[in-house]
Order: sequence, then structure tokens, then C-alpha cells
Amino acid sequence: MALIIDGKKISLEIRDEIREETGKLKEKEIETSLAVVLVGNDPASAVYVRNKKKACEYCGIKSLSYEMPETTSESELLKLIDELNCNNDVNGILVQLPLPKHINEQKVIEAILPSKDVDGFHPQSVGALSIGIPGFVSCTPAGIIQLLKRSGISASGKECVIAGRSNIVGKPMAMLMLRENATVTIAHSKTVDLKSVCKRADILITATGRPKMFNSDYIKEGAVVIDCGMDRDENGKLCGDVDFDDVLPHCSAITPVPGGVGPMTIAMLMTNCLEALKIQHRI
Ligand code: NAP
Repeated sequence: MALIIDGKKISLEIRDEIREETGKLKEKEIETSLAVVLVGNDPASAVYVRNKKKACEYCGIKSLSYEMPETTSESELLKLIDELNCNNDVNGILVQLPLPKHINEQKVIEAILPSKDVDGFHPQSVGALSIGIPGFVSCTPAGIIQLLKRSGISASGKECVIAGRSNIVGKPMAMLMLRENATVTIAHSKTVDLKSVCKRADILITATGRPKMFNSDYIKEGAVVIDCGMDRDENGKLCGDVDFDDVLPHCSAITPVPGGVGPMTIAMLMTNCLEALKIQHRI
């Protein structure tokens, strides 16, 4: 019977570890803080921001909220980021994406000080990951590494196929799996014979945003299957990129959706905030 990797439980373990550490730091009058910037009225973004603030509260991290109207100009947002960069009481800065169309997202990402870049999206953080020096790592891929490690799954020497090459999931995931000594293939929409490529994988990580596209035809017997997808099926129900019920009998471990990768993203954001504080205070 395959192991169903419980992301909710593992993310709670991590949040409890953070809470313990921030509690000890508070005894020394050191407080961890995250500035959360939301521009506009996108309902999904508002939910994500609310969840991030709730997680901060649980972890003993102070969240500073900056909610700006849809009409905010790029220069107003850049000015705020500049102020947050200079504010020693702010350890991490998170700008909720997507931003309104008139604001250049890349410019905003690059304006965040790399030492406060808790989302791991700054080019310096991305570069640090590629050459293997310390830096913040994008939260979803970092969470997947924790899921594997805390489930006792080693990637060393294994064939790992990652379906998806986005800057926030697929590419950093590939770098992290390389760091774990896996042999890594990145597949994408132009990959020829995706089924055969995926069937080579001892560890298959899907991040395509295509509901239930990976059925048992894509799975090597006994593979570990990690599903990043947060998709909607034909009835509007949340599902992953993997056809869970079809794949389950063929794999050795699998993440469900919901309750797999999803909860890990916020847990790793909290980890990055604490890390940012430690870097800034040289602890
Ligand atoms: P994205 O930017 O849309 O990238 C999707 C990737 O999948 C692209 O590289 C695309 O290839 C590839 N792809 C699409 N259709 C494909 C197909 N039929 N065959 C092979 N490759 C295909 O998406 P993303 O931001 O990486 O997100 C991927 C999924 O993860 C989504 O469901 C998203 O909601 C979820 N996600 C979850 C979390 C979380 O916290 N759990 C965080 C981030 C994302 P091309 O590059 O060739 O177009």
C-alpha cells in the first residue's frame, strides 16, 4: 500500500518548530516580522494573504499589513518597498502576485532586498540556488524537499522527472533535486512522448496545472509521485495534476490534493522569515 504523504501534518510540525524558536527569541526581545503587501482587490490574492497572516500569528511572527488600492502606481509601490528594505524591524517582504497589469512585476521583485526576499523570486536568490550558495528558495519547491526528507525518501541517485518549467515551481525544483543528487529531467509542453519520459521517473513531480492529466500510464511501478497542481476538475472541485485514484495502486508514495504540497508552501514562507531574521541579526 502506498504511503499517502500528509502535507498538513508535516507543515504543522514545521510551524510548531518555528513557533518554538520564535518563542525563545522573544524571551531575548527579538521579534520576527513579515511585511505583507497586497495591491488591488483580487479575491484569490486576498484569501492567500489572509492565510499567510494567520500562519504568521500561529508561528509567533508579527505580520505588518500593507493593503494598497488597485490604482496604486508602480512608483508608489517601489517607494513602499524601499522603505521596507530600510526598516530594520522588517525581516521579510512579501508582495502578493499577481500585481495589477500597469505594474511591472519583475521590477517589483528586483526591488526587494535579497536578504528580505522570503519568496525567493529575486534573481540573486535564483542565481544563488543555481550555483549552490546560501539564499532564499521559492517556497513550494522547498516544501517538497521537506515532504520527501520528512517521509524518509532519499532522492540520491534516483531518476527524477519534473513536469513543468515555471520560474516559481519547475525550475527551482530541478535545482533542488540536483542538489539532492537526483538525476533530473525537466519536461514541458513541447516534450515529445511525455508518457515515456515520466515512466522513467523514480520520483515524478508534476507542476503543469492540468487537472488529473497524469494517470497510471505515466507512472513507473513503485514511483514516488508529488503533485503540485491546484486545479479544478469538471465539477469545479479542487484537484491535482495527478489522477490520484488511478495512480495510487502503482506508486510507493503520493501526495494528495488538497493536503499534500499546498500546506507546505506557507510553512516554508514562515521558515524563510525566521531565516531572514537570523541572517539580519547574525544569529
Ligand atoms: P505555469 O507557470 O502555468 O507552468 C506550467 C508548466 O507546465 C509550464 O512549464 C508548461 O510548459 C507545463 N505544461 C503545461 N501543460 C503541459 C502539458 N500538457 N504537458 C507537459 N507540460 C505542460 O504553472 P505553475 O505556476 O508552475 O503552477 C503549476 C501548478 O502548480 C498549478 O496547478 C498551480 O496552481 C500549482 N501551484 C501550487 C502551489 C502550491 O502552493 N501548492 C504553488 C504554485 C503553483 P511550457 O513552459 O512549455 O508552457
